[in-house]
Amino acid sequence: MKRDLMEILACPVCKGELELTVEQEDEKEIIKGSLYCKNCNETYPIEDGIPNLLPPNLR
Ligand SMILES: [Zn+2]
Repeated sequence: MKRDLMEILACPVCKGELELTVEQEDEKEIIKGSLYCKNCNETYPIEDGIPNLLPPNLR
């Protein structure tokens, strides 16, 4: 995913802000990492450049 996406991504549960942790990125985009919602204490993974923002109970 592109870093710019952070501006439009929100927690699927509470619509709150997400905190980005990058594990791997190239010059264009984030390949691997996670998005953390501190309201819900929930972490959403980013794998192969795709953020998985499904609520935990639907994964
Ligand atoms: Zn949340």
